Amino acid sequence: MENLHLSLMKWTMGVRKNTTNIPIWGDCGRCPIGVQMIKLLIDFHNRLTQLDDANSAQIVRHAFAEQRSMGLEWYRTTQMLYHRFDPEALARSQRSSKSALPNSTLVKKRAEEWFKGEWNQAREQSRKLIFYNAIKKEHGFEPYLHLQKHKKAKFIAWLRSSSHFLNNETGRYGLRYESQHHRACNFCSTEDKELLQLLANLPTVNLIIEDEEHFIRDCPRYGELRSELSLVYRELLTKRDYKDLFSEDHVIETAKYIQKLSLMRYEN
Ligand SMILES: [Zn+2]
Repeated sequence: MENLHLSLMKWTMGVRKNTTNIPIWGDCGRCPIGVQMIKLLIDFHNRLTQLDDANSAQIVRHAFAEQRSMGLEWYRTTQMLYHRFDPEALARSQRSSKSALPNSTLVKKRAEEWFKGEWNQAREQSRKLIFYNAIKKEHGFEPYLHLQKHKKAKFIAWLRSSSHFLNNETGRYGLRYESQHHRACNFCSTEDKELLQLLANLPTVNLIIEDEEHFIRDCPRYGELRSELSLVYRELLTKRDYKDLFSEDHVIETAKYIQKLSLMRYEN
């Protein structure tokens, strides 16, 4: 189910199936189904526990008591979850001499916090998501996913998640990983690939890498497209304020701009 959930999010965003999951969780502002379902699970557990405490004659209560004594996996998992996310439940139960009833809302809230903490750590440690780390610090829904023209939102999703075909991305896999020259911008570098490879091996030479920043801000190939941007927008680019490019105020201009850039980039 979780794989289906992720596939559906990627399909909605218009990115490839093998796109790294971190920007998908982050931009959709979603948590795994397991985390979202946790409240239902704890509420179910609590309802059965209360029936058991009341010596209910219902069959479900007997089934619950039996499954608990057998230590079935769902029961053990529930115990493990609430011991972790609401450890105070046991102390509360001792004070009232009733069975422990974890607070399902609190368990869900803490489970979400835990997931967002894990997401944050994975994001910061990712060596691939350099651009994403510059524009995204907190897990939460992104305004570009609200854009009505799905195609435009797709171009933004490609750029943010590095699910694109810029040389910085395509040059990092397989044998291409060996040499930096595969990542150089085709427009800003010599077309002589052998010379480029030789230059890449010299310690004093820094190749012009075609990464997201070069693509949207620096590459002279797209200078004319940049001149059509609003003054405010160009200032944001100059100041490297990339996070703001994706805010409510600028996301439509970003969508149009990245679409034009991408079409020009991929036309040859
Ligand atoms: Zn360039």
